[in-house]
Amino acid sequence: MKVTKFGGSSLASAVQVQKVFSIIQADPERRFVVVSAPGKRNAADTKVTDALIKYYKEYVDGKDVTASQAWIIKRYQDMVDELGFQAKSMAKIAQDIEVLATLPIEDNDFLYDTFLAAGENNNARLIAEYFTHAGLPARYIHPKEAGLIVSSEPGNARILPSSYDRIESLHDAEEVLIIPGFFGVTVDNQICTFSRGGSDITGSIIAAGVKADLYENFTDVDGIFAAHPGIIDNPHSIEELTYREMRELAYAGFSVLHDEALLPAYRGKIPLVIKNTNNPDHPGTRIVLNHTKEAQPVVGIAADDDFVSINISKYLMNREVGFGRKVLQVLEELNIRWEHMPTGIDDLSVVLRGRELTPIKEEEILRQLNHKLEVDKAEIEHDLSIIMIVGEKMKSHVGVAATATHALSEKHVNLAMISQGASEVSVMFVVKTSERDEALKALYDAFFNAN
Ligand code: ASP
Repeated sequence: MKVTKFGGSSLASAVQVQKVFSIIQADPERRFVVVSAPGKRNAADTKVTDALIKYYKEYVDGKDVTASQAWIIKRYQDMVDELGFQAKSMAKIAQDIEVLATLPIEDNDFLYDTFLAAGENNNARLIAEYFTHAGLPARYIHPKEAGLIVSSEPGNARILPSSYDRIESLHDAEEVLIIPGFFGVTVDNQICTFSRGGSDITGSIIAAGVKADLYENFTDVDGIFAAHPGIIDNPHSIEELTYREMRELAYAGFSVLHDEALLPAYRGKIPLVIKNTNNPDHPGTRIVLNHTKEAQPVVGIAADDDFVSINISKYLMNREVGFGRKVLQVLEELNIRWEHMPTGIDDLSVVLRGRELTPIKEEEILRQLNHKLEVDKAEIEHDLSIIMIVGEKMKSHVGVAATATHALSEKHVNLAMISQGASEVSVMFVVKTSERDEALKALYDAFFNAN
């Protein structure tokens, strides 16, 4: 039995919805369908979720909402018209969109989430009705009825562990169940969404809950590429990745799947596949617990920008008890998250994401390092990128780092830092952002285009 999730681009138009229908109809094991809100039909179009944000803002600011309401309702109506059927749910959808602008504004922490969730919720209604009309009995099911109970954290819900048992009972449904992605319901019956892009999380939770054999995540690419296609020409798509490899790649900028979506499927030991709605015969990328095939030492190379390094030197730093803790305490007190901490003998760097800092925070960090910790030198370096080469099999291969550093040196890329965790799933290089593309190309050639 499979849980199949479709992203917004797969549900943006009638043509796309018909592809989705064919995909579900083609395989009787596809029993659970998780849907996003309709996405963009073309580059200039607006995602329904973004239109709902605009509608919400107008409502709370006391502005006229009629144009926004009409646009959103028409978006569903156009779909129905293009699909060429009489949708009974259209009246319910219109009412549901209009009712949003009557909900209390004051003391309502969940108002924004309730607006946003309407995008997926109404899409699920429409898709269920269309599937049934087209000959495949399907039933819309609200997350509350599905048992998706979440924490009370608006815009950042977490699934409550007790939900899984309730979700398991969906197993026995006779029709194909159409479940809106992106949100759950709190114990107090409030609509609460996951973070943006969170329909992937719903799919993963349902897959783990019903103990599916496979979680299929349909998007608009043939799986995950070994490197960013905007930088590398025609990178090959990866056939198989482990969850740990995916986690590392997602950390460093691979964004095909929401990073919180990996956990439920991983814990439930459910394999996941990323597939293309526009090319469903392509096998896509499978994400598995352990490699089932002979894998290359490096399966993918990711790069991510906007890193900053706080570089600290102090003679005999290594003999000072608690030095590292004190550095991190400075950051903690300023509520700053850090990512990596490569060290030398008398120096230490703390690498963090640029968004964690402000000019005032930077000044304060330097002041405290100089005065409280009496460092010899402290400086903050901006415009850094990280590049990660990722692969579980690196562990059993000697010379991977050598191949990488050789390739980088051939292109005269200066390595600001190198770091490898004990798990040896990845090696991270820090380079200047201006050298990022050159570095990525050199590494891609060394690991994927050699011989
Ligand atoms: N529609 C939501 C968003 O745009 C969730 C999703 O598509 O996964 O963020």
